[in-house]
Amino acid sequence: MREARTTCPYCGVGCGVLAGVEDERIVEVQGDPEHPANFGRLCVKGSALHETLGHGGRLTRPSVDGVETDWDTALGAVAERLTAVRDSHGAQAVAAYLSGQLLTEDYYVANKLFKGFLGTPHLDTNSRLCMASAVAAHKRAFGADAVPCSYEDLEEAELVVLVGSNLAWNHPVLYQRLKVAKQRNPLLRVVVIDPRVTDTCEIADLYLGLEPGSDARLFTGLLAWMAAHDKLDRVYLEAHAQGFEEALVAAREQDAAVEAIAADCDVDAERLETFFYWFASHLHVVTLFSQGVNQSSSGTDKGNAIINCHLAGGKIGLPGAGPFSITGQPNAMGGREVGGLANQLAAHMDYDTPGARDRVTRFWATERLVPCLPEAPGHKAVALFEAIERGEVQALWIMATNPAVSLPRADRVREALEKCPLVIVSECMANADLLPYADIVLPASSWSEKDGTVTNSERRISRQRGILPPPGEARHDWWIICRVARRLGFGEAFAYTHPCEIFDEHARLSGFENGEGPGESRRLFDISGLAGLDRAAYDALAPIQWPVNAAAPHGTARLFTDGRFATPDGRARLLPVRPRPPAQSLDAARPLRLNTGRVRDQWHTMTRTGRAPRLMNHRAEPFIELTPEDAAALGVEEHGLARLAGAGGEYIGRVRLSRGQRRGEVFVPMHWSGHFSATARMGALLEAHLDPLSGQPESKHGAVALAPLQPAWEATLLVADDLEVAESSWCDESRYWARIPLHGCQRWQLAGGEPPGGEKEAPRDWLTWLEASLPVAPTLWCTDPASGRLRAAGVDAAGRLRWWLMVGAPVELPNLSWLDARFEEAGAGTGLSAQHRRRLLAGCDDGAANQGPVVCSCHQVGQRAILEAIREGDDSVEALGARLACGTQCGSCVPELKSLIEEEKAHASAEPIEVTAVA
Ligand code: SF4
Repeated sequence: MREARTTCPYCGVGCGVLAGVEDERIVEVQGDPEHPANFGRLCVKGSALHETLGHGGRLTRPSVDGVETDWDTALGAVAERLTAVRDSHGAQAVAAYLSGQLLTEDYYVANKLFKGFLGTPHLDTNSRLCMASAVAAHKRAFGADAVPCSYEDLEEAELVVLVGSNLAWNHPVLYQRLKVAKQRNPLLRVVVIDPRVTDTCEIADLYLGLEPGSDARLFTGLLAWMAAHDKLDRVYLEAHAQGFEEALVAAREQDAAVEAIAADCDVDAERLETFFYWFASHLHVVTLFSQGVNQSSSGTDKGNAIINCHLAGGKIGLPGAGPFSITGQPNAMGGREVGGLANQLAAHMDYDTPGARDRVTRFWATERLVPCLPEAPGHKAVALFEAIERGEVQALWIMATNPAVSLPRADRVREALEKCPLVIVSECMANADLLPYADIVLPASSWSEKDGTVTNSERRISRQRGILPPPGEARHDWWIICRVARRLGFGEAFAYTHPCEIFDEHARLSGFENGEGPGESRRLFDISGLAGLDRAAYDALAPIQWPVNAAAPHGTARLFTDGRFATPDGRARLLPVRPRPPAQSLDAARPLRLNTGRVRDQWHTMTRTGRAPRLMNHRAEPFIELTPEDAAALGVEEHGLARLAGAGGEYIGRVRLSRGQRRGEVFVPMHWSGHFSATARMGALLEAHLDPLSGQPESKHGAVALAPLQPAWEATLLVADDLEVAESSWCDESRYWARIPLHGCQRWQLAGGEPPGGEKEAPRDWLTWLEASLPVAPTLWCTDPASGRLRAAGVDAAGRLRWWLMVGAPVELPNLSWLDARFEEAGAGTGLSAQHRRRLLAGCDDGAANQGPVVCSCHQVGQRAILEAIREGDDSVEALGARLACGTQCGSCVPELKSLIEEEKAHASAEPIEVTAVA
């Protein structure tokens, strides 16, 4: 087995991965012990990477107008149609929407083509949805989009404050590092500030369950408190910052008494003051913030409110100190480096950076081909789709993202795409529900095939290496973009033969005339020290943090250590922040606050993680989480179905009760696309309220109404992967459906107002419907006419299991792994044994019940087995690990195990469970 070094393609931690390759397949993955982001650790998503590969379900041929074709025809069509739109409507009618999943080299050539050669500024990225507010806050405070810290600062801090970040689920390896640091150093304190009690609270010394959107009030209050208690670093402010007085005046415009701040944030005043005291009295403080801060109509201000406190206390540029924005995606940072946001030009130069347009024009030599680069920033993500709606943008190229799920008003995004005369989609997976809107589909390479670099949250550039060849005719994104550029007549500027040549140009641009303009300070993003790498050196490139230049040839772990910032006068800026409530208000029609986010085992729209059945088991269906009290008041029950109605659409999911929610608030996951469920795209619920500076949507604050969905029937249908079926026959007839891939079959969870076929007398009609809808007629069945329950199975002439159906609530399901194994055998051509056939309708060999949601994805341990073990006395994580192996591999489930232990103990002693008092 050969071993290849690469990087995980999921979250912004950017873990190094060792891939074991055998017979041109990746057969195992391990954490790279030498990668400084993870030192050998991987979370459950990373450790399942090899299970998401395989050529099944991949796009392998280009298509134009729905007809598969060759690359020559597809590239010609892209070039011809882009040219036609540009000639008839101008360059501003052409746009691109990119993704933090792209590699830096892909991003670089896309930005160069659209802004430099097609002459349109309308190139934005889905990083707008997660990081744009932090970018804007960095620029305002530091003069550059620069994250000051390194991961090791979390380990060197005295206090780590996590704001709007469920680190345990969204950046699990970083969470594991912090947890270990806390075990090694009991003096390290952790504060969690989040409206929800999440698994991250496992390590919290103090939890503040604040009112959603009140973060800015909390941090302006902290600034005022620091001033009032003489906890400012006046020497630092004097020497290295400006704007403090204005910031303090703004902070004092609201009542600065702790009780008043606590009331506004809806937290306990004593706890709040404890936090203020801890923050103010420690020098080595890291405040790590994420989407809970950024996804707000005032996200930029919130970021600056946090940065203000660090500057005011001199808690920056030191080991274990600084404001630390953690990116969601693996290469959100790389996209920002090349200029992948619509308000950026290139290499950390904006449109208003003095001399930038001229400099970039000369560097790219675009003046010989087109008049000049665009003069002003382009449309940010939400505005871009509005411009499409208005008909101003007529051609859109989408790469590696699905705006019809993740953008607010997602249903209108679909309408805009339908209306757009030219939609080009570069995509790896055939299950992306964006494809029906595409005029031209270009099959792209995926992780393990793509070759280039990514930059993680701590500015560390790592190689993501091409290990396997792309399937069929799939091609790398940089290759596709460059071939189109050649067809457009820009071949000379896009004559790259390998990503290392693109990286070299990117590195040279970062150092080009850097800081040489009149009155210009040096651009912090400078990797000129990596220019000129030949292919071998590029292939061998070890992870390194920028800046990398003559002054820092080995990279830079920490920024601003000398107190000099990237502003013209070298001083950081404190900003006057006046807290604003969320733009989305609640009313009688939509009285519940909607919160959205990720779940532990899924990534984005599940196109990849949905291919690993063990990752589907943690949260198999789209869900709605709310408190037991709200559920009772609203008439919904745990495991039942409910419907959320928002401004722009609806969402149907299974109810989960959570004591970690605040009253009056619901949480839904962001992952389900139209491929996995018809009515669970969370973006459809959200209005488009944007931060005025960053353009980032307020995805953490929707307003919804909730009502129970009371279907006349529920059913579980398992269908063999290789059985040709018309899925629409049950999707169209179901009020709710969710698709859950297993190993040998697809599980469909269905619910509706009428039995499929629309007739009464459910059991008999189900059989009629099955006969009409599936290519193999029912072979075995048992019914209970009184209850309407039915179990049936279809076995083909060769004795292979083809489908299995249970009519009834999913809580009645047996453990499906036995049935899944029968489908896997069928896929291998093996028929059912006589014994298996006898047990088929029971769905198991031994009466094993459904084990409930899988808690430990590594060892597939379900909730029921864990609860049983706890009841029998294994009431510690260690004891559970010894008995069931849960929690013994990647550790991602340990917080959930602890919660189950606590809940079970509280249940046993009939004591109320305290949900807000983590201290
Ligand atoms: S923590 Fe993030 S980068 Fe690391 S393995 Fe998990 S998903 Fe991948």
